Amino acid sequence: MVLMNEHVAGEPLVKYRNIGKRFGATEVLSDINFDIYPGEKVAMIGPSGSGKTTLARMLMTLEKPSKGTIEVGGELLWHRNVNGRLMEANASHLRKVRGQIGMVFQHFNLFPHMTILRNIMEAQVHVLGRTKQEAKEQAVKLLEKVGLADKCNAYPAQLSGGQQQRVAMARALVMKPKIMLFDEVTSALDPELVEEVLGVIREIAEEEEMAMLLITHEMAFARDIADRVVFMADGQIVEQGAPEQLFNQPKHQRTMNFLSRFS
Ligand code: ADP
Repeated sequence: MVLMNEHVAGEPLVKYRNIGKRFGATEVLSDINFDIYPGEKVAMIGPSGSGKTTLARMLMTLEKPSKGTIEVGGELLWHRNVNGRLMEANASHLRKVRGQIGMVFQHFNLFPHMTILRNIMEAQVHVLGRTKQEAKEQAVKLLEKVGLADKCNAYPAQLSGGQQQRVAMARALVMKPKIMLFDEVTSALDPELVEEVLGVIREIAEEEEMAMLLITHEMAFARDIADRVVFMADGQIVEQGAPEQLFNQPKHQRTMNFLSRFS
């Protein structure tokens, strides 16, 4: 079911249709239908192992569905041949689709041998074809936004986990994606660093028009910033709705059981 709310209008930016995924004999996603609208902030919650990361990784083309289709901005991520088999997407197509999507993972994946500035310049120069000067200006702007302008010349290892995570956000944001995926970005951090990272995401959510998909175990955070919350369990979307509805009046016992762990 696709839920509309007052924040969304027009065609979805992302459409998952009848998505299934198996790893060997194990079915980890079954018949997922799910849309994200331009500018919409969607929080995805649910027990570990319910398939949230797999769903997000598919959008980054890091994982292929076993069945179904995914569209981003009206473009299929993979085409199927007449036998229903997924075709390998060509490189230019993948670049085009991936260019619309930014992802920040649990682990920061910064290039360890590059300064913070170079980390944020790299894809701008090589993927977007920006000049070094342009890329540098943009990088500095984004580092200011995440409160790390004074760390331009530092290397990742010289930064705290929270700071590295903020650099990873700046690196994704500088590409101006239409949607940003955040996959449990705080779960590898020491507790005292969590709030600084959530604070930056909150600011981004308020200021930026891009859509966001946030996979999180931080319920208060999900309630604060999401237009819509999606609860997943056992490879299925159990229910979804506005935060007040889902957190205050969940419809399914499975959702109630999950939420009771956080109260
Ligand atoms: P979540 O993000 O909700 O914790 P995941 O999408 O990470 O869930 O995982 C869903 C299920 O898929 C889990 O049972 C996990 O062990 C399994 N899984 C994920 N990736 C792989 C893989 N590459 N090979 C085999 N099983 C996998």
